[in-house]
Amino acid sequence: MALIVQKFGGTSVGNPERIKNVARRVARYRAQGDQVVVVVSAMSGVTDGLIKLAREIMPLPTEREMDMLLATGEQTTIALTAMALHALDLAAVSLTGSQAGILTDDVHTKAKIQDIDPKEIHSLLDAGNVVIVAGFQGRTADGRITTLGRGGSDLTAIALAAAIKADLCQIYTDVDGVYTADPRIVPGARKLPEISYDEMLELASLGAKVMQSRSVEFAKKFGVVFEVRSSLNDNPGTIVKEETQNMEDVVIRGVSLDKNQAKITLVAVPDRPGVAARVFKAIGEAAINVDMIVQNISHGSGQPATDLSFTVDKPDLLKTRKVIDALRGEIGYEEVIADENIGKLSIVGVGMRSHSGVAAKMFETLASEGVNIGMISTSEIKISVVIDLARGEAAMRAVHAAFLG
Ligand code: ADP
Ligand code: ASP
Ligand code: MG
Repeated sequence: MALIVQKFGGTSVGNPERIKNVARRVARYRAQGDQVVVVVSAMSGVTDGLIKLAREIMPLPTEREMDMLLATGEQTTIALTAMALHALDLAAVSLTGSQAGILTDDVHTKAKIQDIDPKEIHSLLDAGNVVIVAGFQGRTADGRITTLGRGGSDLTAIALAAAIKADLCQIYTDVDGVYTADPRIVPGARKLPEISYDEMLELASLGAKVMQSRSVEFAKKFGVVFEVRSSLNDNPGTIVKEETQNMEDVVIRGVSLDKNQAKITLVAVPDRPGVAARVFKAIGEAAINVDMIVQNISHGSGQPATDLSFTVDKPDLLKTRKVIDALRGEIGYEEVIADENIGKLSIVGVGMRSHSGVAAKMFETLASEGVNIGMISTSEIKISVVIDLARGEAAMRAVHAAFLG
């Protein structure tokens, strides 16, 4: 008998038949005597639909109301999943994030989990229930509903697994596991039997949406080993865990493409101390995550000036523009250019630490495809480049073929 957390993503609960399928899987584990906590996402397309609805009312709704709205997606699925289990004569109770004891900070739309009080979950499990928890949501200390950032049901599952000390954490999705690249873009991608937290974290933060990056960060911090697997079959999935010695033998574990970034350039910013600090402090205070940053001295005539470029998540672009526009008088840049047509292509692998020539091979591959590189950033285990969005998928296939083909 084991205590298991099973998370089902949007496609896996995308219609009534799929929800019944989830219930049948849960029933199999119950029949073995396991205790099961189920975490569900909103049905596929529902969260996007709610965002669209809100934008039809106003372009930049308050984040408090966005959370109130978005949380309804998952609330629908917990109830339907409980009903599907009842239809199989299983005892099941649904809980919102708040009812499940998930406490967060008050950064609406990307709240961080601060604490989980699993009392209610434990007592419902002990009474013989399957407990179904709404993913992606929690509540602040003063009772406001928050959401955990897109893909946040993964985080709910992993945080709950840590809080209730689950024996097993399974992330069920619409692919068999974590692949060397998104199998929908790269037909030659291969399923990985295992991957380290650090590699999964890099891939996830660099666009491989199969796992929400914050959930992987959390799993690493609390040592939650988890499996990514398909809700449509019984194939073994991918185990995500601490790095083991032989993992460095492989140079590149995977390739990812992030199409969800936008580039902002402040043209002709006065070249004096404190300007970058001012810009990024204001952006940080607005809870906007900045990724790559590049600064170039412009060689025009007149006062020394620099062009300052950085990338943010596309949905944060409007908010970022607002922050930057408000700084115009104080800083005195010439103009702001926003470019949404970028893609960030990355290669990831702990083996990069002990192999040389990896960057050169990536750049040569892109050159031979005629793809221009706009920005570059590297860490010990990844290399990322910003390229033209329209060339992104072809470039991804070429780089995958060069390293993993
Ligand atoms: P869920 O709704 O179950 O959370 P997501 O749509 O968030 O599922 O994530 C699963 C999708 O992630 C897959 O359908 C796949 O297209 C995409 N994906 C991107 N990169 C990878 C990768 N390296 N391995 C597997 N899937 C990936
Ligand atoms: N429904 C949320 C989203 O679409 C959370 C999730 O699916 O994990 O981002
Ligand atoms: Mg997801």
